[in-house]
Amino acid sequence: MKPEISQQFNPTTKEKNGFSLLAHSMLVRTLFIFIAWLLVWQVGRLVEYTEHASVWFPAAGFTFSCLLVLGGRAFVPIMLAAIIITIWNGQHYELGLSLKEMIWGGFLFGLAHIFPYWAGAKLISDLANKSSENIPRLIVSFILVAGGCALLAAILVISSLIFTHQMPVNDWKTTFLPFWIGDMAGVIVLTPLFSGLLIKLFPNPNLTLTQFTADGLGSYRQLLYKLTLNAVLIVVTMVLAFWTDSFESSFAIFFLAITHMWIATTETPLFSVISLAVTSVLIVLLVHFLGLMDHVMVYQFAINVIAANALFGIAIPQLKAYNKTLEDMVFTDTMTGVASRYYLEQKARLDMNECQLKATPLSLVVFDLDDFKNINDQFGHVAGDEALRRVSRAAQENLRKTDTIARYGGDEFIVLLPGASLKDAQVITEKIRQAIGQILIKSVSLSSSFGIACWQVGDDYMDLFSRADQALYISKTNGRNQISAA
Ligand code: GH3
Ligand code: MG
Repeated sequence: MKPEISQQFNPTTKEKNGFSLLAHSMLVRTLFIFIAWLLVWQVGRLVEYTEHASVWFPAAGFTFSCLLVLGGRAFVPIMLAAIIITIWNGQHYELGLSLKEMIWGGFLFGLAHIFPYWAGAKLISDLANKSSENIPRLIVSFILVAGGCALLAAILVISSLIFTHQMPVNDWKTTFLPFWIGDMAGVIVLTPLFSGLLIKLFPNPNLTLTQFTADGLGSYRQLLYKLTLNAVLIVVTMVLAFWTDSFESSFAIFFLAITHMWIATTETPLFSVISLAVTSVLIVLLVHFLGLMDHVMVYQFAINVIAANALFGIAIPQLKAYNKTLEDMVFTDTMTGVASRYYLEQKARLDMNECQLKATPLSLVVFDLDDFKNINDQFGHVAGDEALRRVSRAAQENLRKTDTIARYGGDEFIVLLPGASLKDAQVITEKIRQAIGQILIKSVSLSSSFGIACWQVGDDYMDLFSRADQALYISKTNGRNQISAA
């Protein structure tokens, strides 16, 4: 995966996407981040419900994304923006501070805001690069880190506001919780989307996040359908809260977690991230336009819960894929592609039960290549591996659908033949013996020795295997390339 990603972000390919000026010019990049931060902050201010606290704080998500994608290069534009908005706040709330005091206050606010998100972004980018394949771990870590950074930012920023006389000391009690949860909502909901956009504008070869965008958006019809359904549900639940004017009815918004989980587990990660952003913007705007500020904490928590839930949901398809991979690894021998010894033992127990119930025979064959060490010694282990694969194929081609072949280890294989009597097993084994004899490894032909055992009343798997193995030993001591039965 890595070579593909680094090629995608290779500076030589940047020109093609038309954003080379943004990516290359420090001044343009700084200006872009500065202006974008102010615009994003303005969106958050739209839904401000107490001084210094909004329903959510999208600027926190933007800061986190900038630091994630650009690292320290995002420091200057965000700091400048923090100073500008502090001056703006000073005028807007008529705090009676001098310009010097506001610049100092803005600088402290900038530090208090940037530092926690810088630390969090560093943690996440290290983790993304270390375990780029492990989306579940990355998502869980991101949610925890987002909560932790937002908490630290809330503590530091409120302290800096009090210290620079921008907030009365007693206000911290009413401001702290909405500040923290609002920042957290901004980070959890918007970082995935902002980071995706920023990484397109400013390709970063050191950041591996393409697993979230690799599958694209999927079907546009589905996107439109599911986004519309979500929007309708949000409008219905929030208009309900508005009409009934009851605090309890605002909790209906939590049902939206279900539709988002549904989207997350059935659609691509990019799809989920976009629908999450759209949902949160819609909730925030409706809080504003329907005047639901009295219920704002409910909506704030709902945005966080829906987002965290949906982000967990994104991990589910990948967890399923992991489980499948693990299952395949446990049940198959990766080198030859035949079943693993573990799989065969489980299957043998099931088949033995069935044959006992139906009173049909069952045979087990164990075979081991003759003088296989010589193949490795003469032609090397690569040729030896190829020989093992060809032996597996040759044996498989002579088996019925109901039979199972597994690699026991080294150059030894086991074949399970349900329904086969000793005679049937001898016929099948003879075919395999001949097929192996046809295999030429650089002009040396292969051969194998076989042991067969037929299931007897009272046998468990180990009894059956031991008898077949003893029969194999007889074949070996009698001169190899032959079949014995026990
Ligand atoms: P015998 O007729 O007594 O079976 O003689 P042999 O040379 O086949 O000896 P034995 O079965 O005891 O040893 C199996 C050899 O198979 C030992 C090892 O070098 C080789 N071997 C085991 N696993 C692998 C593998 O995954 N790849 C390759 N290339 N060789 C393997
Ligand atoms: Mg051998």
